[in-house]
Amino acid sequence: MTDKPEKLIDKKGLRLDGRKPDELRPIKIEVGVISNADGSAYIEQGKNKVLAGVYGPREVHPKHLALPDRMVLKCRYHMAPFSVQERKSPAPSRREIELSKVIRESLEPAIFVEYYPRTMVDIFVEVLQADGGTRCASITAAALALADAGIPMRDIVVACAAGKAGDTIVLDLMDEEDKYGTADVPVALMPNLNAVTLLQMDGILSYDEFESAVNLAIEGCKKIYTMQKEAIRRKYASAKEEGEE
Ligand code: UDP
Repeated sequence: MTDKPEKLIDKKGLRLDGRKPDELRPIKIEVGVISNADGSAYIEQGKNKVLAGVYGPREVHPKHLALPDRMVLKCRYHMAPFSVQERKSPAPSRREIELSKVIRESLEPAIFVEYYPRTMVDIFVEVLQADGGTRCASITAAALALADAGIPMRDIVVACAAGKAGDTIVLDLMDEEDKYGTADVPVALMPNLNAVTLLQMDGILSYDEFESAVNLAIEGCKKIYTMQKEAIRRKYASAKEEGEE
């Protein structure tokens, strides 16, 4: 584990990695990266590296789990043993089981689950490298993988956290800010419907600080949403070019 830094915010108001309080980490997104999946996406957000694959709609196994009026949505969030400094056991931890549920519940409101009764859609999220905010990066990538799989959705879902480091409200916390900061507020948003599908808080904030953190996280989500759209367009532009060749 990294040592506790002396200060999370320096005299100039900058963070440990030189970011301003309202700045996102550098983000790279690619859609359609696993040819064996029905849909997939990869995101790098700072030092986070997350891969999402979607399979389905397909037959439900075991069959008795099938629902007569809607699809079954399943999600598995998993951190690779080499994704963090101290080796993580490959077995699912309590945290991973909880995050799998949190990610599924953030995505489910966007999906027309009633279009595919008696089927199942699986979302697999593999965290290859973790540096704080992996649940948000996972939601952003998994939503793109669902779109790439052609699953009908009301809107895309995009996620970003804000929180408090030192005395400052900051956007997109990295690992040290997450561990040694005062609070972390992950938010997932359907940007066109302007509806929040995930709101969590870890730590302590005053009412006003909480409001600022939520608003800042929503601003972050909107910026990442433009990158999601560009990533989808790139995938279809290259598919079109390949078709024309
Ligand atoms: N982490 C770790 N080992 C673990 C689980 C988490 O080092 O077994 C780190 C990892 O960098 C992760 C961060 O702690 O991103 C924060 O984890 P948290 O549970 O707050 O979820 P996240 O912020 O990734 O959504």
